[in-house]
Amino acid sequence: MAKKALNSLSAADLSGKRVFVRVDFNVPLDEQGKITDDTRIRAALPTIQYLTSNGAKVILASHFGRPKGKVVDSMRLTPVATRLSELLGQSVTKCDDCIGDAVASTIAGMKDGDVALLENVRFYAEEEKNNPEFSQKLASVADLYVNDAFGTAHRAHASTEGVTHYLNPSVAGFLIEKELQYLQGAIEEPQRPLAAIIGGSKVSSKITVIETLLEKVDKLLIGGGMIFTFYRARGLSVGKSLVEDEYVELAQKLEAKAKERGVELVLPTDVVVADNFAPDANAQTVSISNIPDGWMGLDIGPDSIKQFESALADCKTVIWNGPMGVFEFDKFAKGTEAVAKSLATLTGKGASTIVGGGDSVAAVEKVGLADQMSHISTGGGASLELLEGKVLPGIAALNDA
Ligand code: ADP
Ligand code: MG
Repeated sequence: MAKKALNSLSAADLSGKRVFVRVDFNVPLDEQGKITDDTRIRAALPTIQYLTSNGAKVILASHFGRPKGKVVDSMRLTPVATRLSELLGQSVTKCDDCIGDAVASTIAGMKDGDVALLENVRFYAEEEKNNPEFSQKLASVADLYVNDAFGTAHRAHASTEGVTHYLNPSVAGFLIEKELQYLQGAIEEPQRPLAAIIGGSKVSSKITVIETLLEKVDKLLIGGGMIFTFYRARGLSVGKSLVEDEYVELAQKLEAKAKERGVELVLPTDVVVADNFAPDANAQTVSISNIPDGWMGLDIGPDSIKQFESALADCKTVIWNGPMGVFEFDKFAKGTEAVAKSLATLTGKGASTIVGGGDSVAAVEKVGLADQMSHISTGGGASLELLEGKVLPGIAALNDA
């Protein structure tokens, strides 16, 4: 998307104002309903604390799970309110609805600096339909709007898009500001050389991002299951590896486009193959021209890791989306781990390293290197769409500076 100078939250007049803040509190729960990872709640704290310390009345709204437009008790935001209150060190009023009289009277009783959390907005089907009446009801209790839910910014829903038509100003929170600064900054005005590492299972889910990035990057490193479609395009035999036949021609075109644009395209030279798709499968490392019949490639090999490390060594900006192999199985996690380590080293040398994509972020967290990346995106789908050059409706709807 075209770079947009957003109206900043820090420029807004906040004292005594009722501020409707859309956050992404869609955290994972265990079977007992306990929060297993509160990263998303913590990610919203800078915005919330800025608002409370500037005397605003903070009205938080979020989705949670997929209740499909009905009240589902296990998808109430009650545990989130408790955790948020602990993190903030102040009480958080939990509403049992997100619109209506009870909500209005709770908000009427708020003092400057108070925090209230509305109930799951997806208890109403109107939320995902971006229904104008529902948007207006959400907006009716507030004076201004802050969107800090990067993870849902690629969806035009009532609480991310519709509501902005009824509240002025509508500004980005600090989390969205930071996501844009890193993700947009990396593709619009990067320190070069700029490399992108793209992995994951399928070419089909990453084509648009590969095409877009080919216009921007100096180097493109490809790993994961999608490499076999590229090898098939080169006429290599890939055994039982994942191949999308309908994308073979496109893979060929992408290679040609990289050449034409002078982008260094790095494809692995060796792979770790398995005799079946299982954590305890028999494994061997082979050159990509020797993939045995009946075996499937589940990770990049040691030579490829070296090749990737040397391609990345001089890079000043690196964007990573998609694991290098089936990292969920320890035997096939080495390529992904090595890339995470390379990026951590580059960060230490002053490069900007950005990780987006739900599984890639999980992989980086699994190896304990999350705090050694310049930026870990909180939105898998949203970060991919941003890198694809798409307009995110939840961001497009905010006021320009
Ligand atoms: P992200 O969520 O980071 O965008 P994707 O969802 O695109 O990543 O892809 C992640 C999945 O890709 C993982 O579940 C991983 O097991 C799978 N994957 C990676 N390499 C291979 C491979 N060689 N064969 C099959 N699946 C793979
Ligand atoms: Mg994924």
